[in-house]
Order: sequence, then C-alpha cells, then structure tokens
Amino acid sequence: MAEEMRAAAHGSSVGDRPSSGDRSSGSDRGERRPPRPGGPGGREGGRKYFRRKKVCKFCVEKIDAINYKDVGLLRQFVAERGKIVPRRLSGVCTPHQRRLTNAIKQARNIALLPFAAGF
Ligand SMILES: [Zn+2]
Repeated sequence: MAEEMRAAAHGSSVGDRPSSGDRSSGSDRGERRPPRPGGPGGREGGRKYFRRKKVCKFCVEKIDAINYKDVGLLRQFVAERGKIVPRRLSGVCTPHQRRLTNAIKQARNIALLPFAAGF
C-alpha cells in the first residue's frame, strides 16, 4: 500500500496564497447602500423641534392615588370632547395613567365628567 496523504490532497489549493500580489482591481466593488426599511438605528438628526422633557405630573407631585372626585385634576387629562388624553401627549407615566384612566371612568359614571362632549 502506498502512502495515503489525504490531508495533503485536501489542503493543496488553500496552502499558499501569494501575500505580495498587487491586485488593484480586486477590491473595486461599488459601494452599495441597501435601502433602509426603517429598521433600528435610523435615528440621526431628524428632529426639528425638541420638546421639553415631559415628566409625569403625578410623580412630580407625589400623588399616589388619584381621586376620582378631583375633577379639576382629571379635567387636565381629558380632551375637550371628553376623551382621555393619551399618555404620549400628556406625559403621564404608565402606572399613573392607568389610575388616571380608572379615576376618569369613575368620574364619568357619576357624571362628573362627560363621556363625550355634547354639542
Ligand atoms: Zn407617574
């Protein structure tokens, strides 16, 4: 039996690559920029106006339980038509928004606040 050099046959073409080859046209692939489909990381300088940082009113004033009888307070978070102002507009944090929503709904039930402003 002759010598079986499987390893030599396997790596014969990979073994020596010229390190000093001057290939100038090798890396000349056109820079292609894939159109971003709006993925993550596309936040560069698109803001025209910077709104002030909103803080939750209830967190600031340390209001834990929102009283549904406090109509003056609730009205600040109810739009003119009787809708509850969404959190992203009012800046209320999530736990407080939930309590606020409940309070507003309670207030509606006893007619302190309108369900919808009737004209
Ligand atoms: Zn809060």
